[in-house]
Amino acid sequence: MQQIIKQLKGIVGPDKVATAKEDLYCYSYDATFQRFMPDAVVKPQARDQVAAIVKLANQNGIPVYPRGAGTGLSGGSLPVMGGIALVLTDMHRILEIDRENLLAVAQPGVVTAELHRAAENKGLFYPPDPASSDVCTIGGNIAEGAGGPRGLKYGVTRDYVLGLELVTPTGEVVRTGGKTIKNVSGYDLTRLLVGSEGTLGIITEATLKLIPRPQAVRTLLAVYGDLLKAGESIVRISTSGIVPATMEIMDRLTIQCVSRHSPGDLPQDAEAVLIIEVDGTESAVKEEAQIVARVCRETGAEDVVVAVEPGEREQIWRARKAISSALVQIKPTKISEDATVPRSKIPEMIRRLQQIREKYEINLVIFGHAGDGNLHPNIITDENDPEEMKRVEAATEEIFTTAISLGGTLSGEHGIGVLKAPFMKMEFSQPELSLMRRIKSALDPRGILNPGKIFQEPSHER
Ligand SMILES: Cc1cc2nc3c(=O)[nH]c(=O)nc-3n(C[C@H](O)[C@H](O)[C@H](O)COP(=O)(O)OP(=O)(O)OC[C@H]3O[C@@H](n4cnc5c(N)ncnc54)[C@H](O)[C@@H]3O)c2cc1C
Repeated sequence: MQQIIKQLKGIVGPDKVATAKEDLYCYSYDATFQRFMPDAVVKPQARDQVAAIVKLANQNGIPVYPRGAGTGLSGGSLPVMGGIALVLTDMHRILEIDRENLLAVAQPGVVTAELHRAAENKGLFYPPDPASSDVCTIGGNIAEGAGGPRGLKYGVTRDYVLGLELVTPTGEVVRTGGKTIKNVSGYDLTRLLVGSEGTLGIITEATLKLIPRPQAVRTLLAVYGDLLKAGESIVRISTSGIVPATMEIMDRLTIQCVSRHSPGDLPQDAEAVLIIEVDGTESAVKEEAQIVARVCRETGAEDVVVAVEPGEREQIWRARKAISSALVQIKPTKISEDATVPRSKIPEMIRRLQQIREKYEINLVIFGHAGDGNLHPNIITDENDPEEMKRVEAATEEIFTTAISLGGTLSGEHGIGVLKAPFMKMEFSQPELSLMRRIKSALDPRGILNPGKIFQEPSHER
């Protein structure tokens, strides 16, 4: 490895390669509770440096783990087999905002919220908005196929990627897609790369679709005395003819934690709240907000607040964004799942999650992007308590089997990474898994790019 480190320093410069233990430690984490140390952290500044690093790693059979901001919730960036943590945050320039063609060109390390601001400054809108958007990167969003609250109306990252520049696992630079809205030439490699979790290529540039910015927005806070009634409102709104921009749910325990963390933002005695946003023209949002409020009341909401002013709207969203930091005040380990079900199954999924919580006697909270079926059951626990961790593991498995039995999927937006790899067999047949593995080996014959992710290594199989 000493010889390799010398060569890496030759490619990116000595100050962009770290091997000291304290530096490696900083890159051994993501937003899960897992830890794996890399042998070196390398921060390239340019595409050709990425290509040279990958070529070197491929020749020597060294694992390379692409990494953005490390906010992943499935262990996707973790260097589970040592090797190189390839941190792309120094490639952080927005190269173009093209008003005429409604698109942006960005390097992978651009922070998502910065792209939001750059687009909005030109009267445009980049809708994908993971709740981590103040820190996470465009590269990480594309690799995970990230979603967020606005997925309900506007779709997810996948729907906004027009083209990519990437470095393949063997070190070639290739481009996929382009700047056109329509493009059916050849295989759709762009779609293959989106959501590939850094296992098929390293994204070095992305061409992203923008849309005109909506003129007006209303945010509604609907308050419930019964969580299941909130679930029924979601199904009724979805079939009312209106497509809200967001429809987020929070259960009692989530509300209580958030209320302790930022008092006054939510009614702390509620069993559930929905945060629903409608956007569009001024007259349309006024009418849609009225219809949504009526449907919520008809399906059991005890109170509905319609926020028009930016300050009132921010107060509601502040509560939603505080969830992650509020929850870890109960116990230190947060296991964040995102099993997703068809929309009509949301009330049933909520019912089953409540049963799982009681059966395993765990702190299971429910919140998330309920409008698109992407509930986020989170288990708040302590990884140092082995007895409780056994119950947590059993509960997690039951969450997955439940979602799949309802026609759902293991992950709506956080990816499989290392945490959900053991459960892929629940969702996919052997021929399906084998097809995916063959795609991986065709692109990465030596298996150097992000090994240990998505597919369980044979030696780890349950
Ligand atoms: C508080 C909080 C809220 C969150 N809310 C949401 C949400 O609403 N919706 C949602 O979808 N996710 C959410 N997430 C999860 C996470 O933020 C997303 O998955 C995000 O896309 C990860 O971006 P990142 O830059 O941190 O990537 P990382 O965590 O560094 O990496 C994620 C994956 O992308 C790969 N990768 C990173 N950069 C590249 C690249 N340039 N080329 C190839 N592969 C690359 C990595 O190898 C890894 O597999 C949340 C996380 C937190 C902590």
